[in-house]
Amino acid sequence: MALAVRFYLLAGAALIAVHLAVGGSLAIYEGVGLSASVLIFLGAAWYRPPRALGWLSIGLSQSLAAFGDILGHLHTTRPFPGPPDIAYLVSFAAFAIGVFLLMGRNFPWRDWEANLDALLITACLAFTAWMLFFDRADSSYGFTAAGLITLAYPLFATFGVALMIRIGLLGDQPVAYWLLLASILPLTLADGQYVQPALNVTYHFGSWVDAAWLGSYVLCGAAALDPSLRRFARSRLRNRGRSSARGVIAGGIGLVALRVVDRYDVIVKHRAESVLLGAGQVLIVIAVVARVLLYVRELNRQRVLAEDSERRFRLIFERAPIGISFGRDGVMSDTNPALHRMLGYSAAEFAERHYLELTHPDDRDLDMQAQMDTGRLDHFSVDKRYVKKDGGILYAHVNIALEPDTLGVSLIEDVTQRRELEEQLRQSQKMDAIGKLAGGIAHDFNNLMTAVLGYSDLLLAKLNGDESGSREKIEGIRDAAMRASDLTRQLLAFGRRQMLEMRDVDMRDVVVRSESLLRRLIGEDIKLDAVVAPEPVVVHADPTQLDQVVINLAVNAREAMPDGGTLTIVVTTEDGNAVLAVGDTGVGMDEETRDRIFEPFFTTKPFGEGTGLGLSTVDGIVAQSGGTIGVSTTEGSGTVFTVRLPLVEAPATVPVD
Ligand code: ADP
Ligand code: MG
Repeated sequence: MALAVRFYLLAGAALIAVHLAVGGSLAIYEGVGLSASVLIFLGAAWYRPPRALGWLSIGLSQSLAAFGDILGHLHTTRPFPGPPDIAYLVSFAAFAIGVFLLMGRNFPWRDWEANLDALLITACLAFTAWMLFFDRADSSYGFTAAGLITLAYPLFATFGVALMIRIGLLGDQPVAYWLLLASILPLTLADGQYVQPALNVTYHFGSWVDAAWLGSYVLCGAAALDPSLRRFARSRLRNRGRSSARGVIAGGIGLVALRVVDRYDVIVKHRAESVLLGAGQVLIVIAVVARVLLYVRELNRQRVLAEDSERRFRLIFERAPIGISFGRDGVMSDTNPALHRMLGYSAAEFAERHYLELTHPDDRDLDMQAQMDTGRLDHFSVDKRYVKKDGGILYAHVNIALEPDTLGVSLIEDVTQRRELEEQLRQSQKMDAIGKLAGGIAHDFNNLMTAVLGYSDLLLAKLNGDESGSREKIEGIRDAAMRASDLTRQLLAFGRRQMLEMRDVDMRDVVVRSESLLRRLIGEDIKLDAVVAPEPVVVHADPTQLDQVVINLAVNAREAMPDGGTLTIVVTTEDGNAVLAVGDTGVGMDEETRDRIFEPFFTTKPFGEGTGLGLSTVDGIVAQSGGTIGVSTTEGSGTVFTVRLPLVEAPATVPVD
């Protein structure tokens, strides 16, 4: 509240006290009335509030009232109604217009709940005040013009109160609002107390009624002096459309208050205002019924909105491709179809399980750890495994959000596929790195071996007829160098650095050519069964590499059949592909082994026996030649490797040895 306002209120109170003390002072009376109107004009000019016209109109109403006072005091024996009454009534109209202007065009006029609430609250106040404070209107004027004018005073004032209450229902109002509301209340009381029964009551200048009228002037002037008048009747958006039972409660209180006041009248004043009581009750009951209807309508509207919202969120819940689960204290009480599909449980089965029961035993600690953080966090995410109903494992990324009342929602994303891809990527990156390394070493190593071989050959040539046994030793060196050179060829092929000699090759020749070598390789315990197609099976590849493929596969087959068996090699065509199938009746592989056999350096053989490069070399060659390799195996009963290479459309010349 501005300093000027406090000062003016204090000064006003002091003047009123003096006025009452001296038994009425005309100078003080007219002075206070006129100063209030002047201050309102000054306040409006100084603060330039929005809708300043409203304040000017209120200033005008105060001037008219002060003018009416002067007229009344000039004619002590005034006729009723007389000139002052005209000034007073016009002053009321100017006040109401002023308040309307302050409410402005954007005022939520169509908020019928609030309109009815204002009516109800005003009616409750007015009827109880009337019955409590005012004497019965024993007007000798009856239904004459004068009689109606006496009624008009309190009615107009009450209308002003109703408008102010309507503004108050907008919510937070500034000091200026409360001052203006405070200014109109004593006016209403005084007008009701004095004017209406004025015809029977003698008015004493300087009595308490003067205090009420003067106080009204002062409060009204103070309202226009406070800077908060700029925010007068500002509606707060958040208060719009709020449905509340406010009016209904006011109505209920009003009805009770009317009955109480009625009893008071009968017991204390020994009279009954049955007409007033009845009118008040009827008005309030009608307003309450209307209010309830509006309230019900509002509730219905809210229900429709809620249903619509529920439908939308249902749709998300039902159709989301990720699993969603709502629950309290870790129980998955509400789960969506995506989650049912992911884990294989039904909604009812989820509802009777704690989420830890579905969590992979090794990941429970992970969850507990995350849980520990929940005191500090309202959400967290965790990568964990779930155990499906069928016992399978589901890798999931879970986002969990917790409400303060421990309602939690989990968004469960199946990341099994993503993990597989990541695993593959890691694998191929590893392969690449190893391939580059191996290729680089093999290249240099091969050059060194060429030198070793060359010098061995030179030595052998020089040693003609030598009996010292050096020949066998040098031949040993040369054989070892040859094998080393072979090994580097494999490494090079694996590293894809070898210079290729690509040409059209008949796969049948490859097999036929290596048959005798293969027989020696696999030994007597193993039977070789080679079957080739009658027609040519021509592919575009490096023939040496194809030899390598067949030999590597055959060597592995032999090693898989320590107690003998059958090695089957088939060459056919199928759907535009050449097919080379190498099968054995050996030990086969378990799933874990099968998944890794093409990895370089992967071997199940004891240290020193396996290099782990056989199959990765084969894989490299096949890929380099534009083909694919597959394996099917059964533990204990054998393995078949199937190599598919694209057939050459029209073979140019088919060399048949
Ligand atoms: P290495 O033979 O040096 O171990 P390979 O790359 O040739 O390396 O083979 C990798 C692994 O694949 C072998 O250790 C073996 O466990 C498995 N394997 C390959 N071929 C067969 C087969 N025909 N039968 C069973 N296991 C096989
Ligand atoms: Mg091998």
